[in-house]
Amino acid sequence: MAVSELDTLIQLLAKLPGLGPRSARRAALHLIKRRESLMTPLASALAQAAEAIRPCPVCGNLDTVEPCAICRDPQRDGAVICVVEDLADLWALERTGAFRGRYHVLGGTLSALDGIGPEELNIARLIPRLGPGSELILALNATVEGQTTAHYIADRAASTGARISRLAQGVPIGGELDYLDEGTLTAALKARREV
Ligand SMILES: [Zn+2]
Repeated sequence: MAVSELDTLIQLLAKLPGLGPRSARRAALHLIKRRESLMTPLASALAQAAEAIRPCPVCGNLDTVEPCAICRDPQRDGAVICVVEDLADLWALERTGAFRGRYHVLGGTLSALDGIGPEELNIARLIPRLGPGSELILALNATVEGQTTAHYIADRAASTGARISRLAQGVPIGGELDYLDEGTLTAALKARREV
């Protein structure tokens, strides 16, 4: 009876990043003990988010409006486009408050090993957003895949006439933007170099 629902809950929780079976069991118990204050509100927040959240057709950000709030914000400079791998990197840059342009979220990096080519990423829609008056900032992680992807995009974007820059050193080798403190990330953004 209820055991199977509980097993299903634990199995699903165990699929979340950072949660193994043991922490999933603890999370499930925690939810059950706080049924009214946490479990029910969480269930309805999940259902609403699953229903309402869509990828922005312009930039790939997730939002409940199309285009997303960042793409619609007239205070932000649409001529400056910052390319990031994932939403976590967009959020990391937004936390700094130092960037007032717009984004383009790739949804991953090129990886021959995992069979991820340019078609699997949100690259084709980036090129039409660029022109001679625009700047493209490659804010990709300092991993081999991130840098391979940065080279590929710089090549593809070269014919658009956009200025192309990348985050300055200060992003540690193998480092991911999401793990940088805001000061380091702001400095890397401000000291970006043309490629
Ligand atoms: Zn958008």
